Amino acid sequence: MKASMFLVVFLLVCVAGASAKPSGCDSVHIVSRLVSWGFKSVSHPRKIEAIIIHSSYNATTADSFSLKGVLQEYKDAGVSPHYIIDRAGKIYRLVPDGDIAYQAGRSRLPDGTTNVNAVSIGIEIINTTKDSPTEAQYISLAKLVRCLESEYPIKFVLGHKDIAPGRKTDPWNFNWKKFRALLDEQDRVGKQN
Ligand SMILES: [Zn+2]
Repeated sequence: MKASMFLVVFLLVCVAGASAKPSGCDSVHIVSRLVSWGFKSVSHPRKIEAIIIHSSYNATTADSFSLKGVLQEYKDAGVSPHYIIDRAGKIYRLVPDGDIAYQAGRSRLPDGTTNVNAVSIGIEIINTTKDSPTEAQYISLAKLVRCLESEYPIKFVLGHKDIAPGRKTDPWNFNWKKFRALLDEQDRVGKQN
């Protein structure tokens, strides 16, 4: 490649880079671990307006926090969230956002919507009823929620128990105040960039 040609290519790359819209997902690392159960493929773009936060643990072996164990439980039950966050804060994508994951069950959003799975994204935090989410989980969750909000017109970020009171109790021992403070922190970091 001639030097002049190289310069043109270099400039084009610079311009493309500068004009790329900053995304709320830039600082989020998501590991793909797609599952073959617990969701319905959707061929057309679906409306995504809610994020539902859950918690689960592995009840089949001694290691309550085993991702493998939790996934096996989902498989046996034919359910899945879109994302799951392990104790170290690692985010796994189990179902693509565009597909309907079976995670909310019989539930209702504050605006009366009852087909919640169809319009929501589910995020599971690995935690037991006796433990609390880890600091790393809260931080990853805040990043992931801000990322999703930058992609979709999210109206609600709610716990499973908020949309299925009496039937569900998760996310367990979840500190909403702390979570909201971390969301604000994400906004501050975002503005600095
Ligand atoms: Zn749940």
